[in-house]
Order: sequence, then C-alpha cells, then structure tokens
Amino acid sequence: MLKKFKIDLHNHTVLSPCGGLEMSPLAFIERAKELGLDMIAVTDHNSCKNCQAYYELGKKHDIVVIPGVEIQTMEEIHVVALFPDIETAMKFDEEIYEALLPIENNPDYFGDQVIVDKDENIIGIEERALINSVIWDFETTVLKVKEFDSICFPAHIDAQTNSVISQLGFLPKNLSIDGVGITARCDINQFMAKNSYLSGLTVIRNSDAHYLNDMGSGSCFARLAQASFQELKKAFAKEEGREIIPA
Ligand SMILES: [Zn+2]
Ligand SMILES: [Zn+2]
Repeated sequence: MLKKFKIDLHNHTVLSPCGGLEMSPLAFIERAKELGLDMIAVTDHNSCKNCQAYYELGKKHDIVVIPGVEIQTMEEIHVVALFPDIETAMKFDEEIYEALLPIENNPDYFGDQVIVDKDENIIGIEERALINSVIWDFETTVLKVKEFDSICFPAHIDAQTNSVISQLGFLPKNLSIDGVGITARCDINQFMAKNSYLSGLTVIRNSDAHYLNDMGSGSCFARLAQASFQELKKAFAKEEGREIIPA
C-alpha cells in the first residue's frame, strides 16, 4: 500500500559556506522532526563529508536522511545529487573533491566549513573553498552523477542565479536527469506556463535551507510504499503509482 510522505531533498549543514553554524546535527534533526518530515536530504555545496553524522543521528531519531550533495558546475549551475547510502556518497565525494578547484576557503568571509560527527564534535575543517565550481560542465556533471546509483536534478531552476535557466537560458534536452528542483516560493503554475517544454518532468520543491528558520519552507510530498531511497527513485520515475507531489 502506498502512503504520502513529507520530504525535503535540498538542505545545507554547518559544512556549507554561507550556511549557519546553528545547522548542527541535533538542531537539524530536531527541526526536521518538528516539521513532520519523513525524509530529508543533506546536500552541502560540493561535499558529502557531513552526510554520515546527520544520517546516523537521523537513524536514532527515526527520520530517513538521504546523503547527497549540491554540485556547482563550471557554468555555475547548481545540481543536486542524492545517493542510496553513505558508501556511495563518499565514493562520489572522492571524485568531486578531485574536480573542485584547489582554492583555499577564506573563513573570515565565508565562515568555517565544519565537519562534525553525530555527537556534534568537530572532527575536521574543510580547507578547500566549497563555494567554487568543479571543473565539470553541466552535461559532464549529470553523466558523472549517473555513473552511480543516484537521483539527479538541477536545483532551484526558477532562481535568478545559479540555476540552469539563469546560466544557460533553458534546460538542455536528452540529459538523464530524474527531475527538476524549484525554490520554496516558486509559483509552479506560472513557471510551468512560461516554460511549457518542461511539462512532464518530475518537479520537486525544496527549502534549500542554510539556516534553521528556512527549514521546511519548501517541502513537498511523495507517494511511496516506504520512506527509502529506492522508493524515492521510483517516485521520480513515476513508476508503479509512486510519485512526487510538488505541493
Ligand atoms: Zn544552490
Ligand atoms: Zn543549496
């Protein structure tokens, strides 16, 4: 039997530059529980290194945390990738780290990029600036992500900056993306009317939260048999009655 689950598949943690240090594992998971979310994805800029802490804590608090990342392509387009487990996410993390420009973070300007464990201990500081782009273009990024068992969607495509439409003017055809992300406040009917060539794609609304107050601003629903990555993947593909309801 299928049920409706509340999901939010684009959120940042203390690792993201321009993210709040308040987004610690416990505060993040507690807020997600308060919001009634069944599944939440951790998608820091260009790094999966905080996925494990939030995933482990989520397990303890009975909320499914999907490990992921928000990649910034060469054209400064943001793309969200989600993975079935920590192992897969960390394999992808090795590749993206190799592809990320080797420029040091300026903590005075962007803040520290903090790696934590589930008990909120700081276990590392990422020195390389996660705010930059990787050396992959948009098409290559999608190909790289799809080499893994993954869900891939261009982020906040209605946004004025860092979206595939703001950077390229349109969404290229024939890419193996699973859907498109929209911002928390996007008027979906208006947006789709203006971009009718996108109809038929799975649309997903996310908060893209960098601070606790932004969490839940853009969640949506998925019809699934259970709250799991594989069910989610079916929902993106609209298989066996599964679906994303962008709310
Ligand atoms: Zn973004
Ligand atoms: Zn983001």
